[in-house]
Amino acid sequence: MGCVSFRLLYFLAFFAHLAVQKTVRLALYSTKSPAGLFITSANTMKIHEYQAKELFRNAGIAVPEGHVATTPEEAAAAYKQLGGEIAVVKAQIHAGGRGKGTIKTNRDQRGVQLVRSAEEASSVAEALLGKELETIQTGPAGKKVKQVFVEAGCDIDRELYLGIVVDRASGLPVLMTSEEGGVNIEEVAEKTPELIFKEAFHPDQGLQKEQVESLCKKLNITGDSVASANDLMTKLCKLFVELDCSIAEINPLVVTKSGQVMALDAKVNFDDNALFRHKELLELRDLDEEDPAEVRAGKAGLSYVQLEGNIGCLVNGAGLAMSTMDLIKLHGGEPANFLDVGGGAQTEQVTEAFRILLGDKNVKAVLVNIFGGIMQCTTIANAVLEAYKQVGFNVPLVVRLEGTEVEEGRKILAESDVDIITAEGLTDAAEKVVAAANAA
Ligand code: ADP
Ligand code: MG
Repeated sequence: MGCVSFRLLYFLAFFAHLAVQKTVRLALYSTKSPAGLFITSANTMKIHEYQAKELFRNAGIAVPEGHVATTPEEAAAAYKQLGGEIAVVKAQIHAGGRGKGTIKTNRDQRGVQLVRSAEEASSVAEALLGKELETIQTGPAGKKVKQVFVEAGCDIDRELYLGIVVDRASGLPVLMTSEEGGVNIEEVAEKTPELIFKEAFHPDQGLQKEQVESLCKKLNITGDSVASANDLMTKLCKLFVELDCSIAEINPLVVTKSGQVMALDAKVNFDDNALFRHKELLELRDLDEEDPAEVRAGKAGLSYVQLEGNIGCLVNGAGLAMSTMDLIKLHGGEPANFLDVGGGAQTEQVTEAFRILLGDKNVKAVLVNIFGGIMQCTTIANAVLEAYKQVGFNVPLVVRLEGTEVEEGRKILAESDVDIITAEGLTDAAEKVVAAANAA
């Protein structure tokens, strides 16, 4: 009996964990796909456009020639190497909307700019490199441009949209296309969903020729361009499956004046859970683009997601973490983070968790909410004391312990000289931490 209920609990916790990953990520980054599909696998690794295009090129997917540059001199050399008259200098950050985005200290400078000489390539690179680019996706903080991509100018006839995501409802990858390319596709999906055309495909069989033909009809792709579209779409669908992508988006997908269909932008994200089988992709990771606290937590084996509130939460188990966040909100507070230290966290991990929490200057109070199932409350109590020794607590700390060795754990805390607000039960804990944060 004990065994059965333990297993049941384990599975419930496991599914809750999956759900929370999605919910939190979806809420945070609104990775809700256009066309209202339910996307699976919301924990993803992002890469830069130039890296995605390199993967495309290797897979035979048509992209313009381009070279990455980290200095104005390199940008000038890249322009010369391309050999054409028109090139485009594109800021490389993990966010879209660069074409309309502007440099924070120079609002005339956009993140994507056409250039007609090596000198111009150099001066645009100079205006972008090392500066903060603010786009609709970066928020007001912007993102620092460390590299630019100098790409051959494309003779565009039409700009279309193409994206692939996994649809949780059908359990299949779905290719979405629209004639409304180059613009904000989320807006199209919201206002005119009938303008988005979808084709689901089986991961083993790939996208079929008839599916491409049907899409081409709807997109008004005709003549030789159909073969070109078929080549690109089938190869992209294959790449999506082979590399365990969570999203592959080309916006705009262009039809050139000569009728070729090619990728002018490239956004590729990978499912974190499958990265273990793509070691080569890990090399493409750019930690500077990721939230530093999340990177640190990841190294310590903690599930951590930064949020915007002022109450730091240290909880074990994803389901409990979600309930804790809900209760904080119910009592008028705002969680500063989601943090699951896991079932078997050791002292060092918990100390690191405190370091991360207290390192967030928005945090005005911390709630430790532990249910000792696998984890013993004494471990947490000792970890709290150790963290106090190492980190020091500069904000009120509310602790609620339940479960294995709870009495011993409470005793350890009570006998210490650490200033702790103890709580009985979830509601009491939430009320106390919200009050403490509001009083700060
Ligand atoms: P973002 O989506 O971040 O704004 P894109 O790569 O989509 O960046 O570029 C924005 C726009 O710049 C595109 O919609 C396209 O019109 C133009 N553009 C981008 N790359 C090229 C290129 N190689 N040649 C010509 N125009 C380009
Ligand atoms: Mg784009």
